[in-house]
Amino acid sequence: MKKINTIIYGATGSIGKSALSIIEKNPELIKIEGVTCNTNVSKLYKIAKKFNVKKIGFNERSLRNIKKTNFSGFRTFSDCSTFHDMISSKTDVIIYAISGLQSLDLLIRLLKTGKKIGIANKECIISLGYNFNKLSKKYKTEIIPLDSEHNSIYHLLKQNLGNFKSITLTASGGPFFYFNKKQLNKVSVEQAVKHPIWNMGKKISIDSATLMNKALEIIEAKYLFNLDEDQLNAVIHPQAIIHALINYENGVSTAILNNPDMRIPISSLFFQYNKYSKLNKTFDITKQSKLEFFPIDEIKFPALRLAFQVMKMGGLAPHIFNYLNEKLVHLFMEKKIKFVDIVNLNEINLEKIFSKNSNISKPNLSDMKIINYWIDNNLYIGN
Ligand code: NDP
Ligand code: MG
Repeated sequence: MKKINTIIYGATGSIGKSALSIIEKNPELIKIEGVTCNTNVSKLYKIAKKFNVKKIGFNERSLRNIKKTNFSGFRTFSDCSTFHDMISSKTDVIIYAISGLQSLDLLIRLLKTGKKIGIANKECIISLGYNFNKLSKKYKTEIIPLDSEHNSIYHLLKQNLGNFKSITLTASGGPFFYFNKKQLNKVSVEQAVKHPIWNMGKKISIDSATLMNKALEIIEAKYLFNLDEDQLNAVIHPQAIIHALINYENGVSTAILNNPDMRIPISSLFFQYNKYSKLNKTFDITKQSKLEFFPIDEIKFPALRLAFQVMKMGGLAPHIFNYLNEKLVHLFMEKKIKFVDIVNLNEINLEKIFSKNSNISKPNLSDMKIINYWIDNNLYIGN
């Protein structure tokens, strides 16, 4: 039987790890054609050796580390701008698990391949906006969302139950759901990167703590599933067993229940959904003493309110919101701004940007690059 040839972009990260653990259990079915990282070449080397991968990619600036590693016998791809050359006529599945917006150009190239892409990176979907589906449709590229909420929605919509009224995304609430304003004011980087349920990369963990992750996911859902913003909402569900609900006109909602485990959405890239049996975990509802749902306190966590605002504004606004967040999260990690200012400064900068620049209704990549440059030079972070 022909194996499923897979490339993992971002193999050294948290999503990469979950993907590798599925592949490790199914060597007769899945083969890894290529893996990439940013700078963690020693981890990449171990992965490549273990899975007998011949193509490896890393960013140019990590060449310093590469000298210490023997990559003879491998085909190497240095710099993200060459990563798409890994794809061959044999490639069946591409996992796009690089974090952040820096690899947007790579994603655009991937969307033109006509392959099957499992996409975890929400930042790039948001910035591409309507162009994301436009490109994938034009090039007949199959998209499987890997973000747990969107993967749930994707499979629920496949049930084809007809028109629905709205979609609800759930948020675990992150580590500070029970914090008051005073406590939020003192949150440290170390506290913010520790998520109570998911073990994820630093940026998404901080996004979960500010609820910016849910704000971004609402916008991600809008573009992935072609929805109006008034069809979308979010609630807190601390147990993270239900990831999304489809709400129908007759008062019925459908949902999929599963333990929070990213291997479940990722396995749907290789196996018929709900047929994958090697996770050694069955969902036991009797072990769930409670499934709770709470409204989101938008005073304490204003990210969601801002997301709806930028979706209404449209054009460049969702991208700017996303780009600002990435910059502000990094400034928080560098201890240059406070935790609460990640979202507060986003709102302040959004206002400033649109008072000095006009919105563009159908922005292209060059419009985004121009505004990014403006933001890089004019970002306000307080006095
Ligand atoms: P991690 O930070 O754990 O991993 C990121 C991966 O991308 C690493 O392999 C990293 O390499 C690589 N990378 C980072 N920057 C670059 C760059 N500029 N060029 C090339 N490679 C780069 O992130 P996660 O796995 O947590 O998240 C990945 C994406 O998936 C994010 O967009 C996130 O929002 C999304 N996501 C993640 C979930 C999760 O459970 N983790 C859930 C849902 C969505 P290196 O190791 O060398 O730094
Ligand atoms: Mg998610």
